[in-house]
Amino acid sequence: MCIRDSNNFKSVDFYLLDELLTEEQKLIRESIRDFVNVEISPNIEEWFEKNHFPLEIVKKMGSTGIFGPTVSQEYGGGGLDNISYGLIMQELERGDSGMRSTASVQSSLVMFPIESYGSEEQKKKYLPKLASGEILGCFGLTEPDFGSNPGGMISKLEDKGDHYILNGSKMWISNSPAADIAVVWAKDESKRIKGVIVEKGMEGFSAPKTEGKLSLRSSLTGELVFDNVKVPKENLLPNKDGLGGPLGCLDKARYGISWGAIGVAMDCFDAAKKYSLERKQFDKPIASFQLIQKKLAEMLTEITKAQLLCWRLGKLMDEGKASSSKISLAKRNNVDMALKIAREARQIHGGMGITNDYPMMRHMMNLESVITYEGTHDIHLLILGLSLIHISEPTRRYAISYAVFCL
Ligand code: FAD
Repeated sequence: MCIRDSNNFKSVDFYLLDELLTEEQKLIRESIRDFVNVEISPNIEEWFEKNHFPLEIVKKMGSTGIFGPTVSQEYGGGGLDNISYGLIMQELERGDSGMRSTASVQSSLVMFPIESYGSEEQKKKYLPKLASGEILGCFGLTEPDFGSNPGGMISKLEDKGDHYILNGSKMWISNSPAADIAVVWAKDESKRIKGVIVEKGMEGFSAPKTEGKLSLRSSLTGELVFDNVKVPKENLLPNKDGLGGPLGCLDKARYGISWGAIGVAMDCFDAAKKYSLERKQFDKPIASFQLIQKKLAEMLTEITKAQLLCWRLGKLMDEGKASSSKISLAKRNNVDMALKIAREARQIHGGMGITNDYPMMRHMMNLESVITYEGTHDIHLLILGLSLIHISEPTRRYAISYAVFCL
């Protein structure tokens, strides 16, 4: 059930999924696992406790090929398939959801829209630097009054002839306080949603940090505030408008989250299995009690189902057949699965489970963000429901934004 790899690190592979991976995909996974073992795991509890985002990790991630794995090599990306991308996210999140969030935002929410919707000049200017980690990006969609309903956004982009003027604010923006550029979504005069690239240092633009987070404490979160920011015309993403622009990015990021959640679940399962074999009560390892075995068996079952789901979804992504609702199903299922497993694993550790000697509490706290961002758990259920029943009625107007996904 559990195998030890060359790094002495366990992997859950009950259904021999490794047989479905190419040699290249396995090598990529091992290299990210090594990166996490060396750069993240030894420090993560301290970063989490001190609410510290290690800015130096950005360049290290860049040089390891973590940013833009599916972006074309022509622009500095990895040119890889979607399963490789998923495996990178899995291994990163096994280390920490905050670290995976930094990479998800950079790859799926900043590099992806620039590659897919940007001009040739924008691709050449930003993508190689984002890929290498020389610059960090963020993605501004959510506003104080528009979270699950991003289509209602009120940030405004006014055409002033030779430039735009941007006004408004964004909230809950990962990476924002340290970001060099922000891909920002705002409405033009005809209420069409457009994407623009805003650069740090533009007059009237600030990105204050959000304090008091009890989740994703090793990841920076902040606001984006635009007070009459003059944005050059060449910073508009020219090849997409409408809500489909940001939602296309979210599809890509949500897919990565589905894999990331498996990494967390594996880490918790490994910890719980190890602890239950070592910890003795009533003169026996607690693993010998059937109630503990039941918990472990259920964890293994759920992880295996999630792995199969992601592998198939990755193939569908590569073939261009992964609809938004298919991605919603995986994000919703896998994050919920990981949260439940983190909780069960915490219980198997008894009192010790609440300390930072073990990773479960940190993972649990992190997953409270992961189950909320990129579409909440319930919003993904609405997306799935709508994809089954194509009825639009006034009382279901809430889902108009999300209906775009399903059609
Ligand atoms: P709300 O939309 O106010 O929802 C509150 C509750 O109401 C939820 O339980 C929701 O499911 C429920 N609800 C809402 N509508 C309905 C409905 N129609 N039917 C039933 N229930 C409903 N955003 C970005 O743009 N960029 C980022 O980088 C980013 N990073 C984030 C990082 C963190 C740590 C967090 C916490 C959030 C981040 N977000 C980001 C924002 C995130 O995507 C939103 O928090 C999320 O979409 C939910 O929006 P909200 O918080 O406003 O909640």
